[in-house]
Amino acid sequence: MTLVLPSMRDIELEGMRVLIREDFNVPVVAGKVTNTARIKAALPTIKFILGKARQICFMSHLGRPSGIEPEFSLYPVINVLQEMLEIPVHFSKTLTSSIEPLVLYENVRFFPGESTNDLSLAKKMADLCDVFVMDAFGSAHRAHASTVGVIENAPQAVAGLLLENEISNLDRVMVNPAHPLVAVIGGSKISSKMQVISSLLHRVDKLIIGGGMANTFLAAIGHDIKNSLFEQDMLDFAINIMQGDMAAKIALPTDMVWQDDKIMDIGDKSCANFADIISNAKTVLWNGPMGVFEEPRFANGTVQVAKSIASSDAYSIAGGGDTLAALETARISDGIDYISTGGGAFLEYIEKGTLPAIQALTRKVVHGIKTH
Ligand code: ADP
Ligand code: MG
Repeated sequence: MTLVLPSMRDIELEGMRVLIREDFNVPVVAGKVTNTARIKAALPTIKFILGKARQICFMSHLGRPSGIEPEFSLYPVINVLQEMLEIPVHFSKTLTSSIEPLVLYENVRFFPGESTNDLSLAKKMADLCDVFVMDAFGSAHRAHASTVGVIENAPQAVAGLLLENEISNLDRVMVNPAHPLVAVIGGSKISSKMQVISSLLHRVDKLIIGGGMANTFLAAIGHDIKNSLFEQDMLDFAINIMQGDMAAKIALPTDMVWQDDKIMDIGDKSCANFADIISNAKTVLWNGPMGVFEEPRFANGTVQVAKSIASSDAYSIAGGGDTLAALETARISDGIDYISTGGGAFLEYIEKGTLPAIQALTRKVVHGIKTH
C-alpha cells in the first residue's frame, strides 16, 4: 500500500456517533459463542473510542445466511461484548438510530442489499453515524454495503486500529520486503489460489508449494500421483509454470506420505529441504497446510514447516482459515511474527496489495472529505 489510510487518530471523535464495522463472525453453538478471539481483537479500537464518542454502534456479518435465519443472529455476541467491556450493550434488530450509548445491530446479511452493495442500504447505515470506522479486515475484500457503500456515504470514514495493524504488517511483505522472500503455499486446491500464486511468483525468490495442490504440479512434471487429489483443469496452469522462466523459483515436495494410493502429507526429505530454504529467508509468508493435518498422522509436514518458520530469523507472517487452525493445533503460533485475522482478505491483499474497502477509504481522503 503506497496510499495512506485515513486513521482514527487523526479525526475528532469527541461527542460523535461512531459506527464500527467489526468482524464478529464467530462460531456459535447452541446460542453461545465458542471462540471469542475475533471479539477480543476488536477491543483496542473500541477502547480507543469509548469515553470520547457520544455513541458507539457495532455492525458485523455472521456466517452465510440467506435472508433472516435465526441461527445466524448476532445476538449471542452481546453477552461476550458486555462481559469484555463491562458496560451494557443494546441489541437492535433494525438499522434505526437509537439513543443507547452502545448498540449492536443484527447480522448485516439479514438486510436485503448487503452483498449487492445496495445504495439505499449503504445510506441507511451511513445515516447511523458521524464517523464510520472500518475495522473488519476479514471482510475488507468484499464490496458490500457494510464494507464499501457505507464508507462512500458516511460523513467521515477511517480505518480502525485492527485494520491498520493488519495492513502495516502485510505491507512488510508487500512493499520492499527484505530478501530472500520465501512464500510457502499449501492447502487443497490450486484453483482457489491461482491468482495469488501467479502474483507471488514474480515477487518471491522461492515459492514452496505443498499440500494437495502440489499434486497437480507433480503430475505436470511427470510424477505418478495415482489417485491423489488432482485438478485436471489446472494442469495447463501448472505445466506453464513448470516449463516457464520462473520454474527455478518453485520448490515441490520430493517425497510423500501415502495412504493407499493417495498422497496425504509431505515426507521427511521435503520437510528438510523446505526447512533449508526457510532458514535462508529474510521474509517468509505462509498460507495453506502441507497435508491433511486434521488427521494427526498426516500433520507432521505442516508442523515441521511451521516450526521451521517459527525458528527462523526472518520476518514471518501467516494467514488462512485452515492455516490458523493448524497453528493452533501445533501450538507454535508464538514464533510467527504476525498472524493475520483474514482468510480470503489475506490472500487477496497478498495478490493485489489492496482491497475494495481499503480503496474506498483511500478515495475518501483523496476526494477531500473532511479530516482534522
Ligand atoms: P487455508 O484455509 O489455510 O487457506 P485451504 O483451505 O486452502 O487452506 O486448505 C486446507 C485443506 O487442505 C485442509 O482441509 C487439508 O486437509 C487439505 N489438504 C492438505 N493437503 C492435502 C492433500 N494432500 N490431499 C487432500 N487434501 C489436502
Ligand atoms: Mg480453508
